[in-house]
Amino acid sequence: MKNIILFGKPGAGKGTQALLLREAFGFVHISTGDLFRHNIGNNTAFGVLAKSYMDKGDLVPDEVTIQMLEAEVDANPEAGGFIFDGFPRTTKQALALDTFLEGKSMQIHATIALEVDETALVQRLLQRGEDSGRPDDQDEQKIRNRFAEYNKKTAPLIDYYKAQNKFHSIYGEGSIEEISAQLVSKLNTV
Ligand code: AMP
Repeated sequence: MKNIILFGKPGAGKGTQALLLREAFGFVHISTGDLFRHNIGNNTAFGVLAKSYMDKGDLVPDEVTIQMLEAEVDANPEAGGFIFDGFPRTTKQALALDTFLEGKSMQIHATIALEVDETALVQRLLQRGEDSGRPDDQDEQKIRNRFAEYNKKTAPLIDYYKAQNKFHSIYGEGSIEEISAQLVSKLNTV
C-alpha cells in the first residue's frame, strides 16, 4: 500500500477525490481541515484555537497541526496506506511528516496536485459555502486570503516533492468521475 498526499488550492477537489480513492484503494483518509472542524463541532480547546485562525482564512500554527496529524496516524496502526488531504501545507509540516514516517519505516510515495484556476475556485467555494454553511467558504476576502496563504506557504512544497521525484499533477477541471479516473491511473504508476 502507498501513502499519498493530495495537493492543491482550497476548493480544488481534494476532499471529494480522497473519498473516492479511499473506496478504490482502501486508504485511511486524513483531512486536517475535517479534523479541525470536528474539534470545533465538539468545542474542544483544540477547536477553539483552530477556529480563531480558520475564521480568517489563516493557517493554523504548525505545532498544533503536526501534533494532531501524528496522533491521527498513530490512531490507525492497522492502516495499509494513508491519503493525506490538506496536509502538509508548510515546509515545516512536510519535514515533520517525513521524519515522523521515517521513524515508522514508512514514507510518502507520491504527491498529486489537482490544478484548478483561481477564478473557477472562487466560484466553487462560494457555492460550497452556500450548500454547506462553511463560514470560511462564504466570504470572498477570506477565500482570497486562503489562496495567499497557499501561494506563500504551501506552493514551495511543489519543489520540495519535485526534488524527491514524488510530485505529479492533474488538471482538476472536469467531471468528478473523469478526474477520479485520472487519479486512479496516476496512482497505479507511482
Ligand atoms: P481545508 O478543509 O483543508 O480547506 O482547511 C480549512 C482550514 O483549516 C484552512 O484554511 C486552515 O485554516 C486549516 N487547516 C487545515 N489543514 C491545515 C494545515 N495542514 N495547516 C494549517 N492549517 C490547516
